[in-house]
Amino acid sequence: MSEVDVIVIGSGPGGTCAAIFLAQAGKRVLLLDKAEFPRFHVGESLTGIAGAVLVELGLADALDQQGFPRKGGVKVIGSGARSEFFAPVLHTTWQVRRSEFDRMLLERALEAGALHRRGEVIRVLRDGERVRGVQCRIPGEQEPVEIAARYVIDATGQHALFSQLGLAGKRKINETFDRQVALFTHIEGATRDPGRMGDNTFIFYSKLHHWAWFIPISPTVTSVGVVIPNEVFRPLGGKDAAMRWGLENINPDLTPRVADRPWLEPVRTAFNYSYTVEPFAGDGWLCVGDAHGFVDPIFSFGVSIAMQEAREACRRICAVMDGADWREQMEGYAEYCRRGFSVAEDLINYFWQWPIVLGFQMRGSMRRDMIRLFGSDIHGDEELPAIGVMRRALARERARRDAGGPAEADLRPA
Ligand SMILES: Cc1cc2nc3c(=O)[nH]c(=O)nc-3n(C[C@H](O)[C@H](O)[C@H](O)COP(=O)(O)OP(=O)(O)OC[C@H]3O[C@@H](n4cnc5c(N)ncnc54)[C@H](O)[C@@H]3O)c2cc1C
Repeated sequence: MSEVDVIVIGSGPGGTCAAIFLAQAGKRVLLLDKAEFPRFHVGESLTGIAGAVLVELGLADALDQQGFPRKGGVKVIGSGARSEFFAPVLHTTWQVRRSEFDRMLLERALEAGALHRRGEVIRVLRDGERVRGVQCRIPGEQEPVEIAARYVIDATGQHALFSQLGLAGKRKINETFDRQVALFTHIEGATRDPGRMGDNTFIFYSKLHHWAWFIPISPTVTSVGVVIPNEVFRPLGGKDAAMRWGLENINPDLTPRVADRPWLEPVRTAFNYSYTVEPFAGDGWLCVGDAHGFVDPIFSFGVSIAMQEAREACRRICAVMDGADWREQMEGYAEYCRRGFSVAEDLINYFWQWPIVLGFQMRGSMRRDMIRLFGSDIHGDEELPAIGVMRRALARERARRDAGGPAEADLRPA
């Protein structure tokens, strides 16, 4: 049986960044992915924190050369002038076509010294509770292959492999964001705002949990996605019809931008994408990125959370390999991840509760904190004052509802 220090299962941004950081720390790393690259993936708008990681990895020039637009911020557009606001990015960042972006990160991991094989992991190998490797199917090989490692990282995204295998906990559906379906494609020649504003992410919304993204990923191609509640989606008569309905009904500013433009990709869907898994770290293993949970795509936190967790995972794994207590390190890692999720969730809940108030706060004394939050600076030890304000308002609102009072929201359910 061959042996490495760390096996990373999955070559999305979480897996490749973990492999890069670990290889840079001198570990022997093997990345395994069942997919042939390049492959399509949703998740194309990157926050400022993700941009800072990319600059640190030396990828800025390559991203520019690839023609990925530099993102200046996110413009959120409701159904009236009062409901519009703009959140500038915290650091330089990009809008990306994920097939090319993920391939670039994989190449960077190989340059850093990681190994990569195509292979589908089907089992984890254990000594009692301790994970000591994996069994995987390698294309062209008759029998599954066993590979030993001191640590194994699950970075399999929404496949959540360790949860499926019963090593990590069961998927717990996040009921606030889960009754929704996302439909998406790439659109040629959609009308953007003039100048640099045209390179930004636009979020359109009108009613509660009805929204659309508009993300320019090349000089002419825009990723467009529509998110609607399941009960709205079901009677619409299929994916294409539901996508069309969303483009025509979610917000009047979106409709003319995309009318009669060619769709370059088949309409894809994502359901049940909002969940958590507990526990997600143990003796010789941990999960990074979507493999242990995902909150909601509206403010584009997914890739940057995966990258930040990859860095923290590397730090913790190196500490264990240097002799630190694994329980303490894994608990520290889990706390770090939960902190980020909790801030992301509270920000998004607050937005849906009081979108117009949030727009005012973006222009007022909370602006600096807001820019940090929208940049996905969400893992810090200390609570930012703005998130404290939001949490207190959400707690008051919960108490009011529990006492049977009326909801105090900018938007009423559709
Ligand atoms: C509708 C929607 C819109 C989104 N929009 C954004 C956005 O604009 N910006 C943003 O930052 N995020 C966005 N996200 C989130 C983003 O897509 C994810 O958070 C991000 O891709 C997670 O990266 P990851 O590395 O954890 O997993 P992934 O990128 O999903 O990578 C997982 C990899 O694991 C491999 N794999 C799976 N099972 C196995 C196995 N058994 N063996 C080997 N390999 C395996 C897969 O082939 C895949 O390559 C969005 C998500 C959704 C649902």
